[in-house]
This record gives sequence, structure tokens and C-alpha cells, in this order.
Amino acid sequence: MSGHPDVVVVGAGLAAASAVAELRAQGHEGSIVVVGEEPHPPYERPPLSKGLLLGSATPDDALVHPREWYDEHDVDLRVGTAATALDLARRRVVLGGGELSYDRLLLATGAAPRHLGMADASGAPVLHLRTLDDAVVLRDRIAAGARVAVIGAGWIGLEVASAARQRGAEVTVLESAALPLQRVLGDELATVFADLHREHGVDLRLGVSVAGVEHDGGRAVVRVEGSEPVVADLLLVAVGVTPNDALAAAAGLAVDDGVLVDARLRTSDPHVFAAGDVARHDHPALGSRIRVEHWDAALHQGRHAARAMLGTEEPYTRLPFFFTDQYDLGMEYVGHAAAYDEIVVRGDLGARHASVLWLSADRVVAGMHLNDWDAIEPLRAVVGGPATDAVRDPSVPLADLAGGR
Ligand code: FAD
Repeated sequence: MSGHPDVVVVGAGLAAASAVAELRAQGHEGSIVVVGEEPHPPYERPPLSKGLLLGSATPDDALVHPREWYDEHDVDLRVGTAATALDLARRRVVLGGGELSYDRLLLATGAAPRHLGMADASGAPVLHLRTLDDAVVLRDRIAAGARVAVIGAGWIGLEVASAARQRGAEVTVLESAALPLQRVLGDELATVFADLHREHGVDLRLGVSVAGVEHDGGRAVVRVEGSEPVVADLLLVAVGVTPNDALAAAAGLAVDDGVLVDARLRTSDPHVFAAGDVARHDHPALGSRIRVEHWDAALHQGRHAARAMLGTEEPYTRLPFFFTDQYDLGMEYVGHAAAYDEIVVRGDLGARHASVLWLSADRVVAGMHLNDWDAIEPLRAVVGGPATDAVRDPSVPLADLAGGR
């Protein structure tokens, strides 16, 4: 191998697109082939549950690079092409109609929505939201007056509920936990999201269990234990995703709810790297293995994996970051509060203009803001640091804390 390894990327989402752009930006002159099973060039998924459903964004707005970018940068993009196997010993990727050889391989296969067997088997109008094609179908069916049921009050379920309400649909959201997003945000912030949706007319049913799904005259009838059945023109199942790691597992790579990668994003085979939703990363700053299912990780891990494939030894240390937009609420979150002892709120949660810090064992483990767009950089500076008296004192402005580090 020369200083310019031949690179194959499996999966053509954001992690793939940012990796290949970084390879070329670094002056990489070897061949680059990207195979993606969807029929589209790499695109970003956040607009699929927001602007695209609201009609303020088109499918082309979501493209990571313009269509012509790949030819211009000598990237052989093969859409509509699935990798069916990996031969690690011979360094080959097997496709339906042939093989590709590589010096370095990047797995960027993302994740796929979990399904509920009872919904799939019902014959009722059931949708999941992962792809551009899913979003176009959903967009065309969320009309004023349409009845939309959503199982799962996670990010996707809530963002679709928001878009559907803004389009004039009747929306019921069913969630087994006591609050939406409870596991990620904790009770205080989860309550903000519950209130937000109820204020906008969502029938939010919490702590409920779905007992069955039936098909009745083109509609879905969702039977709910301890609650009235929900009749809907459309049922969205939004109960999380699973990583697309079967290809890696079948090839013998180390896999455990995602492809295991070291701090540099390298898998158990030194020629193979993984990035984005599919990668479970040994995070040096968090001291634990973490698989992040967010836009920012796909973008930055893709870039980092590119540099790692070219030989950098640097670890990937960026903290998890994510955002959401629902109705008039915009939020950004940085860090990882797997467990916490207390939160500190600056601002007014009721007015949905605030910044929040999560503290655990005298460290600041996460921070987020609600509609306070100047807060994200100070939050980034504080998260990971000590929970000092000033951090704990809401009268000390966030910007002053950041300046002190
Ligand atoms: P993906 O985007 O999943 O791309 C992987 C691609 O690989 C897919 O196209 C898949 O078909 C393909 N593939 C899989 N297996 C093969 C194979 N064997 N051969 C060839 N191709 C294969 N994150 C945020 O932080 N904020 C948001 O507001 C937000 N909104 C979102 C809204 C929606 C509707 C969705 C679905 C996700 C959202 N996310 C958001 C999450 C974010 O989009 C993902 O974290 C990101 O898309 C992950 O990128 P990726 O490149 O790792 O994987």
C-alpha cells in the first residue's frame, strides 16, 4: 500500500459523506468507492421529521453534498447497491454483482427502526421514519384533519407529533414511560416536553401499554391497556433503532449492540473503521463505551475516521451533542448524563427559555439550553469540568462560568 490507501465505504449516509469529504480535504489521492443501498446520494436525516414534513424543506435541501460533488471529487458513489458480505482476510467487500478490494474500509451503515410485530402483522397503515422515502410518504399523508397515532414519545415520535399538529392533524402519542424522553432528560426536563405537546393539542397518553393493533377499514385501531382504543388513519411506530451491524458480525468483527471501535474508531480488524450510528466507541473522555445516534456524531466521527484511515493516532474525544426543534422550541444538548445527582437551572423552564446543567459526583456531565442560542458554547466549555459552587449558583451567569475555565 502507498501513502494513499484505496478506501471503500459501506453505507452512504452523513458519516460516509463527511468521511469522503475529509479524505479529499486531507489530500488523499487513492481511490474512494462508496456503496449505499438507498437510491439517493447521502442526505441528512434531521429535516425528515421537521422541515420536510412541514413543507419548508425539499428532499434536495437535505443532501450532504450536491449530486455533482462526487464526480468532481473523484468519488465513485454507487447508490442502490448493498454490501452483502465482508471478506476480512482478502480485504474485499462483496456486492450483489461483484467485489471491491480495499486497503481501508469504513463501515457507516447507520441504524434501522425497531418494529413491533403486532403492528407489522396487523395490515393497518403503519409507518416508520428513517429514510427520505419514508418521510415523503408521511408528508403526503399528514393532512389537516387526518388522525395520526404515534407509538413512542422519543425524539422522532415527538418531532413528528409537532409537525403533524402544525399541519392540522389530530395526534395521539402513546408512551409506556411516565414521561416522554424521561430516560435521556430526567423528570424535570421531560415534563417540559410533556407540557409543550399538551399545550399544542396532542393527546399524550403516558404510562400506557399497547395491547394490540388491528386493521379496520383502512384505519389502524390501537388497543391500549387501561385506556380507550385509538383509531387512526396512520400509525407511526417510533420505538427506537438498532444498529446495522449484522454485516460486521457475520464477518467476525467484534460487535455488541454496534460495531466495537477503539478510541480512534478502529474496529477489531486494523484495516476496518466504523463511524456514526453503527459504531460503539470507547470514549476516552467519558471512560465508557457509547453508541451515539445523533447527527453531530455522524458528521465528526466520519471526519475523524477519515483521518484515522490515513494514519492519525489521535483519539476521538468530542462529547455527544444533539438538537431538536418542536413547535417554537429549539434545544441543544451536550454531554452524557447516564446518571445524575442534581440539575441546576438558569432561566425559566416554564417559559421555555433556560439553560440546564446536570451534575454527577461533583462533575458537570451534561448541559442543554432551551431557546437560548448563545448558551451552547458556554455549555460546551463547562461540561466535563468540576461542579464548583459557582456552577451550582444559578445567579452566576453561564458565560462567567465558561470564562473561568
Ligand atoms: P445513516 O444516516 O443511517 O446512514 C447509513 C446508510 O447506510 C443508510 O442509507 C443505509 O441504508 C446504508 N446501509 C446500511 N447497510 C448497508 C449495506 N449493507 N450496504 C450498503 N448500504 C447500507 N440527530 C440529531 O442530532 N438531531 C436531530 O434533530 C435528528 N433528527 C433526526 C430525524 C430523523 C427522522 C432521523 C431518522 C434521525 C435523526 N437524527 C437526528 C439522527 C441522525 O440523523 C443520525 O444519527 C444520522 O443520520 C446517522 O448517520 P449515519 O451516517 O451514521 O447513518
